[in-house]
Amino acid sequence: MTADLRSDTVTRPTPAMMEAMHTAPVGDDVFGDDPTVNRLEKLAAEMFGMDEAVFCPSGTMTNQIGISILTEPFQEIICYKGAHIYRYEGGGLAGNSQLSVRLLEGNRGRISPEEIKSNINNIRDPHQPITSLVALENTIVREAGAVYSLQQIKQVSDFSRNLGLKMHLDGARLFNALTVTGNTPLEVGSYFDTISICLSKGLGAPVGSLLLTSAALVSKARRRRKSLGGGMRQAGFLAAAGIYALEKNIGRLREDHRRASILHELIQRKSWVTSVMPAETNIVIFTLDDKISTEEFLSKLEYHGVRAVAFGPQQVRMVTHLDFKDEHLDHTVSVLNKITF
Ligand SMILES: *Cc1c(COP(=O)(O)O)cnc(C)c1O
Repeated sequence: MTADLRSDTVTRPTPAMMEAMHTAPVGDDVFGDDPTVNRLEKLAAEMFGMDEAVFCPSGTMTNQIGISILTEPFQEIICYKGAHIYRYEGGGLAGNSQLSVRLLEGNRGRISPEEIKSNINNIRDPHQPITSLVALENTIVREAGAVYSLQQIKQVSDFSRNLGLKMHLDGARLFNALTVTGNTPLEVGSYFDTISICLSKGLGAPVGSLLLTSAALVSKARRRRKSLGGGMRQAGFLAAAGIYALEKNIGRLREDHRRASILHELIQRKSWVTSVMPAETNIVIFTLDDKISTEEFLSKLEYHGVRAVAFGPQQVRMVTHLDFKDEHLDHTVSVLNKITF
């Protein structure tokens, strides 16, 4: 048995999802002709109470499009210093949008109005790039899936918008966050100008992300998607998986959280660990004792059929997902109990 905890992107479509995919009616989506893509975009926009949704191949693309349509070159955006948009999108903020970035410390990555306030540039000083957008991430991947409360989101959004700043949300794992706080997508939608959500993480679709936005910005978003090479043709086969994911796979995220919390509980008692980040959702990140190299640790796990990834100096990350079931949890627990150094 192999328990693959490297990421929640390793899931494969289930037979029921495959059935929905191969029976989907399709057309050329660049002409707007794909009924299944249209259905997915309408479904998502309605869930969030936003005007429009744009189906894209990846969450990197939806983040990059969202940020580019809300900013002008040479402006500055504000985000947490470990944000995916900054750390893990191949320099796209510079390449696609010509932006400067102000990085904040945050509280487990959650940035506050106070911290934003002291990092807004003086618009009358030509030395300083014009601050134009605040980007939040929820859940925050570098902080083991830390969650913003709705109240925290509201405070940041109200404060920022009052100053004329735009709001983008990297919601690659937003449904994990909503599972914890008990809020609905509708409650979150109104606080942002653009929202990116991923269908290919915890929701189990093979490919796909959506950018939620306004009627005023959607043609700009579609134009930008085209220029990035994200205009897909009979994409309805993929959109069908996305519809299935949104309709069937949100409710079960709590199971991923339960399994992650069992792993968290066990790992924090191990002698080979010095610290474990709080695990509120489906991500467990821990720091190994200095005497053990990350490579040695990971290869020992791999030998016993458990896969995880290095996530920083001495850091290891495990992510639970749809294909990590109780049998995989039992196997992982027994391996973690057995290994010694
Ligand atoms: C995975 C992820 C994305 C998007 O990644 P893609 O692999 O491009 O779909 C964006 N933000 C966060 C926080 C992520 O974890």
